[in-house]
Amino acid sequence: MYTDGLSYDDVLLLPGYSEILPKECDVKTVLCNGIKLNLPVISAAMDTVTEEKLAIAIALEGGTGVIHRNLTPQEQARQVTSVKRFLNWIIEAPITVPQDAHVKDVRLLVDTFGVSGFPIVDSKGIVIGIITNRDLRFCKDDSLPVTDVMSSELVVLKGEPTVEKAREKFREFRIEKLPVIDNDGRLKGLITVTDMEKNENFPNAAIDKSGRLIVGAAISPQDYTVRLPLLKKAKVDFVVLDTAHGDSKNVMDAVRQIKKDYNIPVIGGNVATKEGTRRLIDAGVDAVKAGIGPGSICTTRVVAGIGVPQFTAVLDCAEEAAKSKIPVIADGGIKFSGDITKAIGAGASVVMIGNLFAGLKESPGNEIIFDGRIYKTYRGMGSMGAIADGAGDRYQIGKDEEPVPEGIEGRVPYKGELRTYLNQLVAGLRKGMGYCGCRNIKELNCYRKFIKITAAGLRESHPHDVTITQEAPNYSRI
Ligand code: IMP
Repeated sequence: MYTDGLSYDDVLLLPGYSEILPKECDVKTVLCNGIKLNLPVISAAMDTVTEEKLAIAIALEGGTGVIHRNLTPQEQARQVTSVKRFLNWIIEAPITVPQDAHVKDVRLLVDTFGVSGFPIVDSKGIVIGIITNRDLRFCKDDSLPVTDVMSSELVVLKGEPTVEKAREKFREFRIEKLPVIDNDGRLKGLITVTDMEKNENFPNAAIDKSGRLIVGAAISPQDYTVRLPLLKKAKVDFVVLDTAHGDSKNVMDAVRQIKKDYNIPVIGGNVATKEGTRRLIDAGVDAVKAGIGPGSICTTRVVAGIGVPQFTAVLDCAEEAAKSKIPVIADGGIKFSGDITKAIGAGASVVMIGNLFAGLKESPGNEIIFDGRIYKTYRGMGSMGAIADGAGDRYQIGKDEEPVPEGIEGRVPYKGELRTYLNQLVAGLRKGMGYCGCRNIKELNCYRKFIKITAAGLRESHPHDVTITQEAPNYSRI
């Protein structure tokens, strides 16, 4: 028995009647139960793609990143904390200083937490002053009580805080920190001018209910009992059970256990069939990650002889998942922005990207100069290098076993900053939506008008019979 399978290059969406312009298309989506993104793109849990810097950059634009697990559990959780602390609307539990503390205690807090200002509170939690870097800079005697150095002419926000009220206070009093208090003067939170500015500069950021950036972390059936308590404490938004074969008993068991013991959204994968999708959903996942072998650094299909061309995999997984209203993430194989449109057209809510992000300034890979051009390293998590650094369990390779890699190590062209590059990707998606007349991601999910093309069609789709003399920001053949 065999069935046909298609990859992104085998198909195109049929253009259709449209009444909308690309810029009018709404690209908001749902990642999984309770987590909404402002664009349908997330970065792969790979050690040359997603660490804190890239996770912050992508969440500021409306997507999210999954911090990889070739890190100690402590370091992974620290990186999650760093993303969660990058942006706040209100810091709900700000670090405070008791009124009987001394200047030296405050300096210690500054060094430990890298924070530049603290409300001073009395024993009932009532704010009596604030001490900032400015007060500390001119204080020569560290043994002084904080009450001698703090600013006691307090500007505060009382009652329900709004962005407008806060902006007004910052403008009127030219302050940098604004304590929020209840009617009795007790501290309820802190708003900083830096956070206000960041919020204004990144209006599309993907944020949780408290205004913090959304971030995920990769875990495995072998390590979740160690990682999850730390990740929960770090306030991670969701976890990804990051395995090469999600349709396995140990993954299903882990999903069930995590859903029972930890209150957290779980994305399970990877699978590439309807049956695998159904089993993950029945085990309790909040989203399914589809993709066996499409990754640009992946050798699974040639090493093991298994896999499903990615367009068909997404189509099948999404059809099954739709019966239970569970989102599907199309993981791997995105080479151009048009592939994002095709993946969403096949039913995915979100795409996961490794290769196209590995060359960004914010990615953790090393920069290399080769033939006069800048590249960054990009490697599979099943490559020899990544296995040597601890990723073997993704591919069922034990610590003392001879590695049989399922990925390669390579380089990709340097692409500059994420913001500009991601804009190009999303603009391509919007163009596709405009050509199909789809106003939003749901409409594109349901559009379902594809045409299968031949090798000649694919050749015709790319620039042909010409030598490219100037590279475009959204088209490269490496
Ligand atoms: P890309 O965007 O096409 O490079 O695909 C990235 C995806 O490839 C990741 O999100 C993983 O699902 C998958 N992947 C990462 N490392 C490996 C590997 O070594 N072998 C097979 N697949 C991999």
